Amino acid sequence: MRKALAMLAALVTVTATATGAVAAPAAAAAAGPELITKTRNTGKYVAFTFDDGPSPTYTPQLLDVLRRNNVKAVFCLVGDMADWNVPLIKRIVSEGHTLCNHSMHHSDMETLTPDQIRADIKQTADTIRRAVPGAQIPYFRAPYGHWGASPAVAAGLGYKNLSWTLMPGDWELPGTDELVRRIREGITETGVITLHDAGGDRSQTVAAMDRLLPQLAAEGWKFDLPA
Ligand SMILES: [Zn+2]
Repeated sequence: MRKALAMLAALVTVTATATGAVAAPAAAAAAGPELITKTRNTGKYVAFTFDDGPSPTYTPQLLDVLRRNNVKAVFCLVGDMADWNVPLIKRIVSEGHTLCNHSMHHSDMETLTPDQIRADIKQTADTIRRAVPGAQIPYFRAPYGHWGASPAVAAGLGYKNLSWTLMPGDWELPGTDELVRRIREGITETGVITLHDAGGDRSQTVAAMDRLLPQLAAEGWKFDLPA
């Protein structure tokens, strides 16, 4: 009986290992260039990042909220949005925010070859720099978090690969109250939070930031860039 239990325990261990193998893609990615998931400083710091813009509707509202609260953020721009929103990119940069390359067409990097990824990242950067010549674009972020071969390619082009610790699902339009609740529940020291300023109705995102930023500042949170 004791032996049977030992065998059962071994079986359970094997099963657990097999289940753990689900994490393999992340482990494989970790073997390549680092995916950044923390702020520059340690302590009660958090970084806000906004993807898929710029949007002529929501990005100006978001920039107003950030400016009122003296918060600098990262904007992960999509080339298809960048090429017709030149003044907004100028404004993002002139107000002290940091740019991130989020691909030309919001493509799934897992479907592209390294050469295609390289061409896409370069085309996106060229598009952004037509708006702001010489713009610094220190980060790359793969759409959907589907990194594929992109971390090595982006690193080779001089980018830091920007991941996140919390993506509260603002695209689900859960309501401003719920969005605020999700961020408050998920916020962690040195965390990187991903929201969206384009790609749909982002009024809840803007409203959530408008409510949250003063609260977080009052609670001693400081706003930082990703490492
Ligand atoms: Zn995106």
